[in-house]
Amino acid sequence: GRNAYCLFEPSMNRGAHEELALTQDLRRALANQEFSLHYQPKLRAPAGPLMGVEALLRWHHPEQGMVMPDRFIPLAEKTGLILEIGRWVINEACRQLAQWRAQGMEVPSVSVNLSATQFRSPGLFGKIRDALEANGVPASSLVLEITESTAMHDPDASLAILQRLSELGVGISIDDFGTGYSSLLYLKRLPASELKIDRGFVRDLVAGGEDAAIVSAIIALGRTLNLAVIAEGVETAAQQDLLTELGCTSLQGFHLGRPCPATEFAARLA
Ligand code: C2E
Ligand code: CA
Ligand code: CA
Repeated sequence: GRNAYCLFEPSMNRGAHEELALTQDLRRALANQEFSLHYQPKLRAPAGPLMGVEALLRWHHPEQGMVMPDRFIPLAEKTGLILEIGRWVINEACRQLAQWRAQGMEVPSVSVNLSATQFRSPGLFGKIRDALEANGVPASSLVLEITESTAMHDPDASLAILQRLSELGVGISIDDFGTGYSSLLYLKRLPASELKIDRGFVRDLVAGGEDAAIVSAIIALGRTLNLAVIAEGVETAAQQDLLTELGCTSLQGFHLGRPCPATEFAARLA
């Protein structure tokens, strides 16, 4: 059309079609109660006690089974559905924490991931305050995880949002740290409580290697700025030991506990 043409491959058609179909299903997923949260422990290094849990979103698709967030969060972002889904996540995480506490379980905090769109949406502050209030959860028990890239994109705006949130009393974790482009000048001013070292630095961690030097530098930075430093993606005892030795405050990963549904998490904790 319009004096233009483009080449069209059946495989492109299939990819686009699948994405469209999945997006349509995503629109109904909330109403159909197809979402759930899995929880993964964050432990004080080397092996506990429990510092908190990270809530990770799961989509139970009626035909495709469990769909992982890397597949549908981008679609949710593109369509704006992330705002409604994100609100559900925040509320569900608070509800679950309150329920665990009512059952006598000691879970110090719950961490929730915020996407870039969510983080910049004007309604975020109100949604968080409402979720805390509705579930009787103190702000200090909620941690918001935003990626370093999100935090450093338009740093002045991020700073203003984070200041307001931290005045509310929630914790702020800078996720995937080391993969973005932090301005140290801004990092110094960010009211964050935690740096989370990206699992890319943990994967090939060996004593004396480059990644160990980078991890040490991040830990030193965290100390200077008075931030807790947690490593994610800890899959082996060797990584657990080395990260502890390097001075990581907390650890998270398959080796210490895989993400699982709330009931299973409660059973494991007991
Ligand atoms: P993330 O925030 O970096 O979350 C950690 C991811 O690493 C999770 O994948 C978790 O299951 C996985 N993981 C945990 N331990 C290990 C380990 O030892 N080794 C390896 N290889 N992986 C480990 P998951 O649940 O598939 O989530 C992927 C991403 O999707 C998350 O990355 C986060 O960016 C996003 N996400 C998850 N839940 C939500 C949500 O509720 N809202 C938003 N906006 N994003 C979410
Ligand atoms: Ca995270
Ligand atoms: Ca991460």
